[in-house]
Amino acid sequence: MEIVVQKFGGTSVADAEKIRRAAKRVIETAERGFGVVVVASARGKQTDQLVADALELNPNPPKREMDQLLSTGEQQSVSLFAMALDAMGHEAISLTGGQIRMVTDSVHTKARIKSIGAERIHEHLAQGKIVIVAGFQGIDENENITTLGRGGSDTTAVALAATLGARCCEIYTDVNGIYSADPRVFKGAVKLDQICYDEMLELASFGASVMHPRAIECGKKYDVEIHVRSSGEDTEGTIITHEVPQMEGVVVSGATIQRDLAKIGLVGVDNSPGNAARIFAHLAKAKVVVNDIIQTEISADKANLSFMIEISDLAAAKEAVDQIKGEVNCDSVFVRDDIAEVSVVGVGMRSHYGVAEKMFNALAEARVNIDSITTSEIRISCAVDEDEAEKALEAVCVVFELDKSAVQRS
Ligand code: ADP
Ligand code: ASP
Ligand code: MG
Repeated sequence: MEIVVQKFGGTSVADAEKIRRAAKRVIETAERGFGVVVVASARGKQTDQLVADALELNPNPPKREMDQLLSTGEQQSVSLFAMALDAMGHEAISLTGGQIRMVTDSVHTKARIKSIGAERIHEHLAQGKIVIVAGFQGIDENENITTLGRGGSDTTAVALAATLGARCCEIYTDVNGIYSADPRVFKGAVKLDQICYDEMLELASFGASVMHPRAIECGKKYDVEIHVRSSGEDTEGTIITHEVPQMEGVVVSGATIQRDLAKIGLVGVDNSPGNAARIFAHLAKAKVVVNDIIQTEISADKANLSFMIEISDLAAAKEAVDQIKGEVNCDSVFVRDDIAEVSVVGVGMRSHYGVAEKMFNALAEARVNIDSITTSEIRISCAVDEDEAEKALEAVCVVFELDKSAVQRS
């Protein structure tokens, strides 16, 4: 029996009517002869509410307890989903991450999947049941509940599709596909029919919250075709896959804003071998993920070093830097928590020149100051004041014609 994995995000299971609509879609797929594995997220804004509840009691809640709490949102939605299917006359069973042996490492609140047990799912499918798995959660080797990071249900779905050898992984959400920019922020954004994993990974990693970046990594690695589509309307969405026709002809496919960032700078660090290693070893020990590291020599014996982190890691990063700053003879430390990054992404950048100039000109004309610039082979990112990020996004979208389909661009 061919298997299809269908993932429903928070807004798609927000209330009874939406769960029924999602359940109908699942039954239609089962009636076409597929084994259906559903992955559901917590309903509506429930995860945000649980985070707020935790912070009300403890401004720095233990991460293990956070996972224990946040995983309850998904447990509710999967059991309700199974009840809806039962009421519609279809046999179904809901399972938690622990019950399918979704084994992760022990890094609470951002755990990574190590292995998934497929046997139990196959058994239930063979009995004609629809299997509904709680997204976002796993269990570590000591049976502690873990979570995969905000938005992590996408990763549960793609990892399950890979493990089960599914025909495809459908991500049902509140937009009808991937757009050239967040359609809530840039109204002129256009829907893409297809996008390759490499571009989608950069977009997701730099702020396109429509997909969890690790879901894309997993899809690329295990060859899972991902179809992002609307849970509300029956239209074709966007296919995320390896090759997209005329990929190199399109220079920029999308643009993003990444918020909730902070920048830490160490000014006047001793310019001697081993200091960068010392600083980043401390940050790694504090489990802080670091991006956009920039080091510049200011004299023969001093250097400046800065890096970006997620704002949720700011307290841990600051503490790690405070512990090490004496050892590396740092003159002063600065922190910016009002910063955002605006990025443009496109595989065509590999073979076209002038992209950076065009982006910087657009920002200059919009009177947006650039704090720092980082690039990859297929991305250019500019850190700007958070207050100016939307203006900056609009300017780059217009200059790269992201309000036009690829064939209409000049
Ligand atoms: P779900 O709850 O279904 O997982 P998310 O809120 O995580 O949904 O993702 C969907 C949202 O992602 C959309 O409402 C949209 O505002 C946002 N988004 C950001 N960038 C993009 C983009 N490039 N294309 C489509 N949606 C985007
Ligand atoms: N419920 C979790 C969150 O809100 C996971 C997800 O929605 O993918 O982040
Ligand atoms: Mg999501």
